[in-house]
Formats: sequence, C-alpha cells, structure tokens
Amino acid sequence: MTVTKNETVVLRNYINGEWVEATSTETLEVPNPATGEILARVPISTKKDVDLAVKAASDAFKTWRDTPVPKRARILYKYHYLLTENHEKLAQLIVQENGKSYKEAHGEVQRGLECVEFAAGAPTLMMGETLANIAEDIDSEMFRFPLGVVGGITPFNFPMMVPMWMFPLAIACGNTFVLKPSERTPILANELARLFTEAGAPKGVFNIVHGAHDVVNGLLDHPEVKAISFVGSQPVAKYVYERAAAQGKRVQALSGAKNHHIVMPDADMEKAVANIISSTFGSAGQRCMACSAVIVVGDGDKFVEALKNKADDLIIGNGIDDEVLLTPVIRDSHRQKVLGYIEKGLEEGATLLRDGRVDMQKMQEGNFLGATIFDHVTPEMTIAKDEIFAPVLSLLRANDLDEGLEFIRKSRYGNGATIYTKDARAVRQFRQEADAGMLGINVGVPATMAFFPFSGWKDSFYGDLHVNGKDGVNFFTRKKMITSRFDY
Ligand code: NAD
Repeated sequence: MTVTKNETVVLRNYINGEWVEATSTETLEVPNPATGEILARVPISTKKDVDLAVKAASDAFKTWRDTPVPKRARILYKYHYLLTENHEKLAQLIVQENGKSYKEAHGEVQRGLECVEFAAGAPTLMMGETLANIAEDIDSEMFRFPLGVVGGITPFNFPMMVPMWMFPLAIACGNTFVLKPSERTPILANELARLFTEAGAPKGVFNIVHGAHDVVNGLLDHPEVKAISFVGSQPVAKYVYERAAAQGKRVQALSGAKNHHIVMPDADMEKAVANIISSTFGSAGQRCMACSAVIVVGDGDKFVEALKNKADDLIIGNGIDDEVLLTPVIRDSHRQKVLGYIEKGLEEGATLLRDGRVDMQKMQEGNFLGATIFDHVTPEMTIAKDEIFAPVLSLLRANDLDEGLEFIRKSRYGNGATIYTKDARAVRQFRQEADAGMLGINVGVPATMAFFPFSGWKDSFYGDLHVNGKDGVNFFTRKKMITSRFDY
C-alpha cells in the first residue's frame, strides 16, 4: 500500500506476486458507510494494468495447469487454515468497508470458507469418465482441462463471499485468475490475495486489478481471457454477458433480484415475521437474496401489524455494535435513489405503513435509512417491479396461493422465493410452480451453499452454468474426449 501526504492509503494492484501501483493516478475514496471515515483510496486502473495482469496470469498458466491437482488442493487447505485464523480480522474489514453488521460479516466469512472447502475437493471434482468397450475393442475416456485465464468482476455487497465463489474453484481447476473487485469495497480483496500468497499460491496465479468500467472492459475484450465470471446489477450483468459472449468467451453473469416471500394463512406468524424482518432489513436489504416483496395470502392484517411492530423495534446504527440489525446503505448517492423510489411508491398509490425517512433524520452521520414498509402494493407499481436494494419492503395482498404465484411469475427476476406454511400441498405447489431458481420453505434467505449451484433464473442470471457446485466445475473446465482402438 502507498501512503499519501494526508496519510490515506492508496490500494495497490496485485500482479505477478507483487504489490504494484496502478498506471493511472486517478483514485476514489473508500468511506466507511456508517461513519464517513475515509478508509483508503482505490486506484482507477487502466487497460494497461489489465494487460499486465493478464500477461502475468497467462505466463503462470503454463506451469499451473500442469501442477498436480492434489498439490493445488493442498494450497487451498493451507489457505483455509489461514482464512480461519484471520476470521475475526476479515469480518472487521467487511464491517468497515461494507457497513453490514458484525454478525452478518462473520456469516459472510463462513460462506467464503465453504467455497474453499468445496474447491479443495478438486482431485475428486475434476475426475473424468470412462467406458470400456464402447464399441468392439474401443474405449472412451473423458478428461477435464482448465480454460486458461479467467476474469472475475464482483459487487460491493459481499466483498469476501462473491470473489470466493470464483477464484478458489477456478484456480483449483488449473486456471489462473484476474479479479476486479468492487471499487466501493476493494480493501478486503487485497487481504484475500495476501493470505493466498502466504498459503503458497505461485506468482501470477491470482492477480487483482482495482478500478471501474475500464478494467471491466479490458477483461471483457482481452483475447487471452477465456472466461468471465460476473456478479452485479442487472444492466451491467446483461452488458457483460453480451460483450464477452460476442467475443467467444464463456460467461456466467449473476444479476439483480426481487425476491418474493408468500405468507400463507396457516404460517407460524411469529417465525414468519422474524424471518422476513431479518431477510428484508439485514445488511440494509443489500443482499441479492433479501426479501423485498411479501405476498400476504388471505386476511393478513394481524401479520402485517406484527411485522410493523417488529420493524419499529429494530436497532439502527453502526454494524460494529452487537445489537444493531439495521446498518447503512453503501453510499449516500444510493440512498438518494432509494428516496426517489419511496416518492414513486407514494405517487403510484401504495400505502406507506412505516416511513424509514423519519429514522434517517435522527442519525448524525452515515448513510442510514430506517425500515420502510409499503402496504397494498400491486405488481404493476414501480416499487414492486424494480430491485431497490435497500431496507424497503413491499406488501402485496393475494386471495390465494395461485394469485401469489402469478405475482412471482410476473416479475422479471427469479433469484429466490420463499413460502411460509405448514401445508404440504401448498409446499408442493410452490415447489412446482414458483418461477425462481432458489426456493425457501419456511427459510428467510434460501441462498445455496458452495456445494450447490447458485441458481438464479430469468433476468437474475445470464449464462448457462451457475457459480458453485458441479456447475462451477463445469464452468471452469473443458472436456477432452479420447477414443482408443486396441485391435491393432
Ligand atoms: P454493480 O453492477 O454496480 O457493480 C458490479 C461490478 O460491475 C463492479 O465491479 C463495478 O465496478 C462493475 N461495473 C459497474 N458499472 C459498470 C459499467 N457501466 N460497465 C462495466 N462495469 C461496471 O453492482 P453493485 O451495486 O456493486 O452490486 C449490487 C448488485 O449486485 C445488486 O443488483 C445485486 O442484486 C447484485 N448481486 C447479485 C448476486 C446474485 O447472486 N445474483 C449476488 C450479489 C449481488
């Protein structure tokens, strides 16, 4: 890291095992969203920096692809050990740069560790298939090979978990990697690189180039980058998918979301309320699996009242304090956009049941917004359709499960959906008909763990193979078929 005159740290890129200054002098501030304190400055690197990193990764690939798979896995075991030893430090860094609560940050570190656990299974995961006697005296074998240099582009909301969805598995499969972390939460990535090097990752296998769209475009357009793994907002995901795919690259682009929770009349009300509160307002609603729309089936007035009461009790503040649940949004510019959505909800006729702007005015510093709940929202309203990515909840009223499922079908997004009920028939109908890739049955955040694919549908995902699980292994490898004749 470089220290400037006013002592603010300027982050460095990590290329070929060295911490190097970006070629550009342009930087952005990285403030703590809860306090405004400037934690560091992030360089806005250029295409030149991307070229340097891709060259390093490309050179490293020549030996890394032939490094025995168990040897690659052993580096991941060591990495897991080091990440576990640094669990506390990593969680604190997440709280500082992202603003989420300490408990959520610990959970995020844990989710990241699981990705390393999965990737360390590479010797098994990369096994091929064989069939003797596919024809007379002929055998068939399938081997898996890495692709080459992979580019990863990540969002602000999970500075640890999302990069870990990508690089440990890609690298375990024999690829080399260039990561472009979010410029809004770039600090943790450097810590991930430092620990990976300590674990024994050879030079050039993992590289980081900080910056914004120029770095993204540099990766998308570079002929040596064979695959792109992207996570972020819908317009950017679509753009990344189209631009990289047009150049023949393999792409997985995880996108925005609008996650519906259906509350059936027989639901355990107390548990449903607790789950919805935590799913909607945890991490200030800035999770791609956050609940942002609740479909209340039947006469749900008691449920709505209980939900509002619970929202009134939420403690708002700096995530470093244990009792806090409602933390700030990432930037004031994002908060201003959200305030626009609140106005839009009122204009379009929704009932503002709880106005989080009141709590906001009480806060001295930070990008806080109180829990905001709209009732009697209809699927056509902007607040029902758009991803707001903030502590703003829409309540939609439905007569029955069929109507509730229809609301879900109408959404352009299909990341997650949950039902709260004890009725087995309702559960089955929900499982069969809910138009989303990750479903929860009485679960508030049905995010899959590293061992299964993270399976968004519709505009929540562009590509074919999802991150994690066997999809992840297929994404980061290509198959080679050998057909052998033995009757010569
Ligand atoms: P974002 O789209 O603003 O940024 C994501 C990445 O794209 C960043 O690295 C950023 O630098 C880059 N980027 C931004 N604008 C760009 C442009 N015009 N051209 C090229 N690159 C650009 O997303 P964010 O605000 O950081 O993250 C929140 C979003 O990510 C939400 O929409 C959320 O739903 C989504 N997300 C989705 C998942 C999922 O699994 N589907 C997981 C986490 C986050």
